[in-house]
Amino acid sequence: MAEFALIDLIRERCDVTRADVRLGIGDDAALLAVPAGQLLTVSTDTLVAGVHFPHEATARDIGWKALAVNLSDLAAMGAEPAWATLALTLPSADARWVAEFADGFAELARDYRVALVGGDTTQGPLSITVTIHGFVPEAAALTRAGARAGDGVYVTGTLGDAAAGLKLSLPSLAKEGSKASNFFLPLRAGEGAEGGRGQLLERLHRPAPRIAQGLLLRGRATACIDVSDGLAADLRHICTASGVGAQIDAYALPASPELIAAFGTDERRALQLAGGDDYELCFTVPDALAPDLLRDLADSGCAATRIGHVVSGAGVNVRDARGNLVELPKRGWEHFA
Ligand code: ADP
Ligand code: MG
Repeated sequence: MAEFALIDLIRERCDVTRADVRLGIGDDAALLAVPAGQLLTVSTDTLVAGVHFPHEATARDIGWKALAVNLSDLAAMGAEPAWATLALTLPSADARWVAEFADGFAELARDYRVALVGGDTTQGPLSITVTIHGFVPEAAALTRAGARAGDGVYVTGTLGDAAAGLKLSLPSLAKEGSKASNFFLPLRAGEGAEGGRGQLLERLHRPAPRIAQGLLLRGRATACIDVSDGLAADLRHICTASGVGAQIDAYALPASPELIAAFGTDERRALQLAGGDDYELCFTVPDALAPDLLRDLADSGCAATRIGHVVSGAGVNVRDARGNLVELPKRGWEHFA
């Protein structure tokens, strides 16, 4: 199948239309109208086969995840999504794969009214780059800078599920050169054997971007980041950008029932602190604003949990219930590390 037929397959499936798209797929470039008084916010994320998803991941899940990880970045800015472009590099012109991929992408795009407005299609090792565009009123944008000593540190949802799903599904991935190899210990006998596996895999393959929650954080959170590389590593970015430190209570880290059922305390903690791919939001809030915000987040269907507080100084310290320092697992995921 030729390049243009593949583009048509994608275009037919990604059928979200918006009045602010004056010209979409089909010309040399898209023409898009940014609403007055708002900033355009833009973010790009690439997924590479064997690094960001296992080679055996389904095309549909890959399509979903390629958009989800980008939406997550907008959520962390407190932005509202609008448009995406898609650069696809494919080993071959496999129409069925492309159709399924586009279906997964379109499913999530419909949920957030994201219009696909352009892209590029090339041949090579499988790789997907999505660029997402959204809006945020200038004063409302959330950044990594702005956390102040005394603020509480919070996280939406639960941590460690996606990394657990990866560990359960693919011991073969936990080898040199994969995203998993940084922190995975081999599975021990009995670990993760039972139910809940499906839930954990769902968290890995179909992360839910926290767009609604990011919007609720506007004007309330002092700093925000999405947890893509592991909580400890991502919170460290907030600390660096804000010029502060953070004190985290290991026992307060939110865990799903499935994670608790599948792993003992130490392994669970490692997954929660250093496992990537959760796409939850980690943010800081002054105590005075916290109760209302927590209620609104719970009402939105994704509650947040206080996991510690911001301190003056630098770096992230994690303590257990006795106050002893918990040694952080190896750092979060870094390419070229
Ligand atoms: P050009 O050669 O001018 O860059 P292309 O032939 O690459 O144009 O693409 C033709 C049209 O199809 C453009 O509007 C482009 O944005 C769009 N397009 C190409 N690949 C994709 C894709 N994977 N997803 C969405 N739109 C695409
Ligand atoms: Mg092109």
